[in-house]
Amino acid sequence: MFAVSLISWYKKNYRKLPWRNTNEPYIIWVSEIILQQTRVDQGLPYFKNFIERFPSLASLAKSTEEEVLNQWQGLGYYSRARNMHYTAKYIFTHLDGVFPNEYNELIKLKGIGDYTASAIASFSFNEPKAVIDGNVYRVLSRVFGILNDINSKEGKNRIKNLADSLLPKNEHTTYNQAIMEFGALICTPKAPKCETCVVTDICYAKEKGKQLSLPLKIKKVNTKTRYFNFLIFQLNDFIVVEKRTDKDIWQHLYQFPLIETSKEIEDPLALKKLNGDIINLKKVKHLLTHQVIMASFWHISIQTLPEKKSYLKIPLSDLHKYPVPKIVENYAKEYLTIN
Ligand code: SF4
Repeated sequence: MFAVSLISWYKKNYRKLPWRNTNEPYIIWVSEIILQQTRVDQGLPYFKNFIERFPSLASLAKSTEEEVLNQWQGLGYYSRARNMHYTAKYIFTHLDGVFPNEYNELIKLKGIGDYTASAIASFSFNEPKAVIDGNVYRVLSRVFGILNDINSKEGKNRIKNLADSLLPKNEHTTYNQAIMEFGALICTPKAPKCETCVVTDICYAKEKGKQLSLPLKIKKVNTKTRYFNFLIFQLNDFIVVEKRTDKDIWQHLYQFPLIETSKEIEDPLALKKLNGDIINLKKVKHLLTHQVIMASFWHISIQTLPEKKSYLKIPLSDLHKYPVPKIVENYAKEYLTIN
């Protein structure tokens, strides 16, 4: 009854999205990775641009990591892009460019976890695997009254077993699409549309008035505050950038030379033992999942650009060719002009 109701609702109400017209694993893979941390309306333009730039697995495999990161710029969680690039190269080189066609092989690939492997196996290869994303957790918790913390092992197992047991023998691919779409459009996190819902009669959360308290998530997240001082050295039309090489946020992206401090500071040039006219042009508070970045942008007029092995002197007009974090991109758009 549950699956039948959702499938019938889906057939009348689904959004026509580009990754729904195909069972091409490359397209499904790209869309699922983009949508992992991103809403459909935000992710759609990125998906279209990405597929236009890298229309096939081969084109992605033959590109450089920098080109991929550049295309990903602004989407965040850049490890997704780095892993995709790595995996595309791996499939191209070691698997003759052919995507594995079953869950057990897909899950071995870098950056492909249970959710993505299930999605590709189901949508591309018709394998009966339950696809479980945040929407599915929410819908199942509410309808079937799962009162365990869904971040706990027990909660995850209960949802997984339930999802597997609900998977219909026929139309399992459509059902997987249906439950995710239903969670995105009807059983939404903050304002579920219970009045128009097709499973309202059997819904535990509706009956108990617990829609907004399910799924139960007990978060133990420590948020760390970091202080980033970006030094913008500009001489005529040249600036200095450096690549982030550490295993840290924004790995392999470029930025202005950075001094990270434990608190806000007044004069980053003193720390660098450099002379020049310095002015703080912008402060930005940037929220990431487990970090708060307090970024200060210091513009420095200087007689000669500083030398360091990791520093790249580039024409300002070339900055757009380098993948940079969103806050750096925003700063450059607002403050850096070519003389
Ligand atoms: S009745 Fe409300 S809470 Fe229950 S599944 Fe429908 S939309 Fe979600």
